[in-house]
Amino acid sequence: MFRKRDDSPRKMVQGNWKCSKCGTDITELPFEPSGDLPLFCSACHRERMNERRGNDRGGFQRQMVQGNWKCAKCGVDITQLPFQPKEGQEILCRDCYKAQKGY
Ligand SMILES: [Zn+2]
Ligand SMILES: [Zn+2]
Repeated sequence: MFRKRDDSPRKMVQGNWKCSKCGTDITELPFEPSGDLPLFCSACHRERMNERRGNDRGGFQRQMVQGNWKCAKCGVDITQLPFQPKEGQEILCRDCYKAQKGY
């Protein structure tokens, strides 16, 4: 026979938040929200999940910009970037970018 170990396996956290998308009041969450993470009501949460699955809407996908640049540091060819570079902007390849950031 199936026996539950815990009376309430999913503890709901009570509070007073607003959905980051539609502004609906949220009074309970299945987790303790941390920092400035966006919160979503159950309807918007479901919508987000659907969007992530059918990703041809592109809303949450990182758009890569195709082009032909050179790394300002090592001179390697760069054919795509995760952003549209501004004119005169120094472009670094992934390795140099990481090195500069100190990873
Ligand atoms: Zn919502
Ligand atoms: Zn480089």
